Amino acid sequence: MPEPIDTDVAIVGGGPAGLAAAIALRRRGIARVLVLERESEAGGIPRHCGHPPFGIREFGRPMTGPRYARRLRAEAAAAGVDLRTGHSVVSLEPGGRLTVAAPEGVRTVAARRIILATGAREATRAARLASGDRPIGVINTGALQSYIYLKRLKPFRRPVVVGTELVGLSALWTCMRHGIRPVAVVEEGMRATARWPLSLFPRLLGIPVHYGSRLGDIAGLPRVTHVEIDGPGGRKSRLACDGVLFTGRFLPEAALVRMGTLALDRGSGGPAVDQHGRCSDPAYFAAGNLLRPIETAGWCFREGRRIGEAVADDLAGALPVATRTVRVGHAAPIRFAVPQSLSLAGSSRLTGTIQLRVGTESAGRLTVRAGGRLLWSRRIDTRPERRILVPLQGIDLPEGIDAIEIAIEPGGGA
Ligand SMILES: Cc1cc2nc3c(=O)[nH]c(=O)nc-3n(C[C@H](O)[C@H](O)[C@H](O)COP(=O)(O)OP(=O)(O)OC[C@H]3O[C@@H](n4cnc5c(N)ncnc54)[C@H](O)[C@@H]3O)c2cc1C
Repeated sequence: MPEPIDTDVAIVGGGPAGLAAAIALRRRGIARVLVLERESEAGGIPRHCGHPPFGIREFGRPMTGPRYARRLRAEAAAAGVDLRTGHSVVSLEPGGRLTVAAPEGVRTVAARRIILATGAREATRAARLASGDRPIGVINTGALQSYIYLKRLKPFRRPVVVGTELVGLSALWTCMRHGIRPVAVVEEGMRATARWPLSLFPRLLGIPVHYGSRLGDIAGLPRVTHVEIDGPGGRKSRLACDGVLFTGRFLPEAALVRMGTLALDRGSGGPAVDQHGRCSDPAYFAAGNLLRPIETAGWCFREGRRIGEAVADDLAGALPVATRTVRVGHAAPIRFAVPQSLSLAGSSRLTGTIQLRVGTESAGRLTVRAGGRLLWSRRIDTRPERRILVPLQGIDLPEGIDAIEIAIEPGGGA
């Protein structure tokens, strides 16, 4: 069996979050920073997103995904990161040990700290409970991007696209640029999930959007021939097409967390963390889309950098030792809150944000309370998959509380 690897920080996943964390750690003088990436090349999802905009805030100009991924790899190499591709982490052990399937065989890695940055993946057809035949040509956007940009293949020519999240619109762009003409977009909600004016994109391309509609049966063998659509008021229709593209509905890539001993948050689907990205085992931290589905690459890059800084502080003994922990609770329609707890050290002020998502379109007053007492509030009018932030600087946590509750209360007021 190959020798175990001993390192200061091991990072699982070489996407924007993992590479940003690695670069930050090296720039802070951490000697041995190892990134383990299961693919043959690091860079994460942007590697096969041949469209802009990536990198505007990090590198000052819009780039295509592959270019952005190249830039990240170059920066990591220049910073002295030990980047190992073809290394798939298969288990996490308590205290900072990994089992890794490497080209030379199974290896163990022992690290003083580990950052998990394994990203997110889209819900499969099975998870969406789509009924009907099982033909060729039913895929999600990750598969579309890799067919088009990595394999140079067109998986279909006239698909139905399901969903109007931003990623669905970027998939439309990919389709149109490569001679694929979607016949329709199907959206369960009565409005697009992506923000205006991006939400106008399908219409501008002349692609009809069926709002308030669900994809029914998928039909055809061996290829898709048509789909059934369940429209508003139970109205059914049939659309001829040669494929179905499922978009959005991301889930954190948290299989390693589920199999191990780290606490998992059922709301976000990712590991439970405090505001420093620290997991329930203090040897482990997490960053990027693993924490919640999903953010932009730029957000994940900045989050990775922030968590890398926190780990560097921790190694230097400069991360304040928590004297109490406050649980972050939330009520429906809020689906999740990240971080799930706040570590407090003496009278130190909190910084950063709590990130929320709702399950249904919601309006009212977003409130943070402790034992019924109002600590912070603002008006809110939002939809699923929109980023909602609660600034921690604005909140004074009273002594003696061990939980805060975040809710959307009816009304709204000024
Ligand atoms: C179709 C599509 C289009 C997008 N377009 C844009 C856009 O235009 N602009 C934008 O800013 N964002 C865009 N995004 C979002 C952006 O790509 C993601 O937010 C970003 O890539 C997340 O970074 P990450 O590091 O958290 O995860 P990822 O990029 O998913 O990277 C995770 C890495 O971890 C590796 N990994 C996972 N498990 C293991 C394991 N067990 N062992 C070793 N390695 C592992 C994976 O191989 C991967 O390389 C798009 C996303 C999609 C799906």
